[in-house]
Amino acid sequence: MTSVPGTNRSDSLAPQPHARQEVDLILRGGTVVTMDPELTVHAPGSVAVQGRDIVALGSVDQVDALYRATQTIDCTEHVIMPGLINTHTHTPMALLRGLADDLRLDVWLHGYILPVEREFVNPEFCYLGTLLSSAEMLRGGVTTFVDMYYHEEEVAWAAVEAGMRAICGETVTKLPSPDANTYEDTLTYLADFIDHWKDHELVIAAPAPHSIYMSTPEILRETTALAVQHNVPQLIHISETADEVEQWITATTRPPVRWLEERGILESNIVAAHCVHVSREEILLLADTGTGVAHNPTSNLKLASGVAPVTAMIDAGVHVGVGTDGCASNNDLDVFEETRLAALLAKGIERSPVALPAQQAVAMATIEGARAVFLDHLAGSLEPGKRADIIVLDMSQTHTLPHFETTDLNVYSRIVYASHRNDVRDVIVNGAIVVRNRKLLTVDEAKILEQSRDIARRINTFFVSRQESVLDKLIDIGGLQQQETFEVQAKGFAPQGFEPETALAHPDITITGQSTRDQYDTYLLFDDRTGERLRYREDNVHTSEGEIEPIYTLTLTGPAKEAEYDNSVVLSRARFAAPADRSLRFYREYFEPSAIREITKHRRRYHIRYQGIDLAVNIDRITSPPQPKPYIEIKSRTWSQQDAYRKATLIGELLRLLGSQPEDMLKQEYVDLVAAE
Ligand SMILES: [Zn+2]
Repeated sequence: MTSVPGTNRSDSLAPQPHARQEVDLILRGGTVVTMDPELTVHAPGSVAVQGRDIVALGSVDQVDALYRATQTIDCTEHVIMPGLINTHTHTPMALLRGLADDLRLDVWLHGYILPVEREFVNPEFCYLGTLLSSAEMLRGGVTTFVDMYYHEEEVAWAAVEAGMRAICGETVTKLPSPDANTYEDTLTYLADFIDHWKDHELVIAAPAPHSIYMSTPEILRETTALAVQHNVPQLIHISETADEVEQWITATTRPPVRWLEERGILESNIVAAHCVHVSREEILLLADTGTGVAHNPTSNLKLASGVAPVTAMIDAGVHVGVGTDGCASNNDLDVFEETRLAALLAKGIERSPVALPAQQAVAMATIEGARAVFLDHLAGSLEPGKRADIIVLDMSQTHTLPHFETTDLNVYSRIVYASHRNDVRDVIVNGAIVVRNRKLLTVDEAKILEQSRDIARRINTFFVSRQESVLDKLIDIGGLQQQETFEVQAKGFAPQGFEPETALAHPDITITGQSTRDQYDTYLLFDDRTGERLRYREDNVHTSEGEIEPIYTLTLTGPAKEAEYDNSVVLSRARFAAPADRSLRFYREYFEPSAIREITKHRRRYHIRYQGIDLAVNIDRITSPPQPKPYIEIKSRTWSQQDAYRKATLIGELLRLLGSQPEDMLKQEYVDLVAAE
């Protein structure tokens, strides 16, 4: 292989007009921005490509003197530069672009993304989504992407079809995923997957433990062993949000990067996405362990996670690349935009216009990105012997003119601050031309767009029907159990000077249990005809040790059919309950009720046996909104209609026995009683 040194010294080549070597392709006459170690620029320059490799580059004259090509592409008024590297994305999620925006991370993830993924993500989805993403990325000058999703074998095949270089990270989580019931299944899949793609020209298969909080130490041990054994990187989200880091420190007393380092996980080649909330000490650990970082400015801003300390990381010697994250949180795969944003954000955060200058930003999108994902031996710069991953950028557009050559740096600022992805004219990956004159040659865009629209229509239908049902939305977030259909209740004002213990000291009544609690109920009401209502209850039970144990529950009730008895009511309705393991704020934002009502009450509950039947007697004092008199409420639930009717008379009888007057009988639920006033 004849190579032209990567410098523009004119004495580096002697003209040899009669011994010109034939190559496949010459990109001729553009400004060649090499991003090599000397950051050489040839202006005007040419790049010679043979097979998959760059064989030479230099001034136009130098390359002309040594090479002639089967195909020469004129690059006058264009920049010839390394293809951009998207260091973190979830390519199939292009099919979820714009599904749900402007939501908090938990609502977005648990309320929208996960339910849709459970329903729709299959091999075809991942294949199509990756083709769609690849088409977008190639048109935008991205030649390599680093992916983390499910069915990664499909992602790999689609990347190959589109002609992109990719690191395909199969997601491993402790939870069941769209392509595995257990993480053991995923680890088995991964071993085959990595083996199958070994030594592939374009694809590296890799493990991608989603994050420390979605992993177990066992998962991370296994993925690290796989990564080390096969010499592939592993991909992981690290310290994306402040909450996640705080919770991790509370649980383990270690910040995430330190925790990973102590377990030897960072000894493998790690590509860490985000690193928004990392301490000074952790940054040094990232540098020491050679961990690469994928900076995703748009995603971090859009989900309000914060801004990663990119300047500090670069100063410490961490290799930081640019990533778009998935389309569901960005909502595009525009690495030009990410690069510009990375530069601007760093300046804004540092309050320094000299922070992250344009040349460094271009490096993040190219050679530093390649280093961050452990591909710099192949990609990231234009150097003889590296793969020909090259883009040609049109600099003759109105928005990039005029040009100055006051310093060597002008070209970088044109690329970062003025150019758009639409300025990408040609794209070459692994020596193959995949975009020529802005036309994508590898993917049938019309076909994949039609298929993508079709999936979107199905997701849309799924969502529209789901939005109409509070129950379906509740099912989607899990943990739900249906409860007894029939509820018998009797309720009335407690008589003046009511003493429950005295009143219950009756020969026919046995007290079997007792508790005291403060209940904070928030009712989410919906302005529709289904009559569903959702109650979020914080039940603060006073223990015998005088402590308070809060229990959080969520109860959904449908519309009730009522039957009235002597002093009692039988309700029949669908009723579902689940532990409320997310915040009230989450449920408010997720269910979007039309109204909210809050009730606080102090409850003394007696479990009693009356005429052989177990019942609960509640003595309730509603403290907010304050009510003048305490209530007695007697309740029982059952699956049996017969049983309900049998209890109805008995419960009414008991209410009278406890001294509540028949005329005081109240049929409504507290939430309605209080609202009616
Ligand atoms: Zn991500």
